[in-house]
Amino acid sequence: MTEAARPRSHGRVRVSVSAAPRDLLEERPRLAGAWTARVVTLFPEAFPGTLGLSLTGRALAAGLWALETIDLRTFGEGRHRNVDDSPAGGGAGMVLRADVVAKALRQAAAGTPAARDRWPVVYLSPRGAPFTQATARAWAAAEGVTLLCGRFEGVDQRVLDHFAVEEVSLGDFVLTGGEIAAQAVIDATVRLIPEVLGNAASAQDESFADGLLEAPHYTRPAVWEGREIPAVLQSGHHAEIARWRQAEAEALTRQRRPDLWAAWLARQRRDR
Ligand code: SAH
Repeated sequence: MTEAARPRSHGRVRVSVSAAPRDLLEERPRLAGAWTARVVTLFPEAFPGTLGLSLTGRALAAGLWALETIDLRTFGEGRHRNVDDSPAGGGAGMVLRADVVAKALRQAAAGTPAARDRWPVVYLSPRGAPFTQATARAWAAAEGVTLLCGRFEGVDQRVLDHFAVEEVSLGDFVLTGGEIAAQAVIDATVRLIPEVLGNAASAQDESFADGLLEAPHYTRPAVWEGREIPAVLQSGHHAEIARWRQAEAEALTRQRRPDLWAAWLARQRRDR
């Protein structure tokens, strides 16, 4: 492995589990068994980005999860390290080359389990299956994930087929590149790792935990611009508060997300 091609780690804690020389300072082996995101990208400098802040940033620094970037450029062809070429059949833009992406994916696979439920290999793509809270839960239960960030028009289809890469989308819109999407899915996943989200209870209550949107929140001051906090929330009756929140969550979901509401109703009927 060349120095340039070595995955770059973004945590701070260094608990060496390998025989690698101590002076490779940017290489920071993860705490044994820590959940790891490996990101193949043309823009490693975009990481850790927002993942370096707050909850996810503190957990990263503490070694509770690990982030490694693999710079696609280092696998490029020729003096200019070309990674892309014009689309077969014509059309606008450029396509990331199968052979170049394959080299990066092979490096990303080193030391990872082949079973995709233990280590999903994912291309962020608007054509992918929608990323949901269920996806985040499944990935958090894995040992790590490899994320391929596209650029330009995307990636040569053959490399996706060859490595059986799963395509996952952030939503029905088109980003310029996969890096923001990668950060979003890593954020959603990492916060479900029990040691990362300190107060694990809050993950149980929040939106989508039971298939409903979350009830509205309020905090001090008790009256603001003439608007009061709903009286029930100040009543101290925990059962009533829970009932109110459930009713609000159901009403909000019914109004805003008919798709989630239909799925929730179907589940209620089935579970009864
Ligand atoms: N030509 C492609 C879009 C390419 S956008 C198409 O029409 O499907 C460039 C890159 O941004 C993609 O390769 C992908 O990695 C990323 N990207 C764009 N939109 C995305 C989305 N909604 N979710 C996840 N990744 C996305």
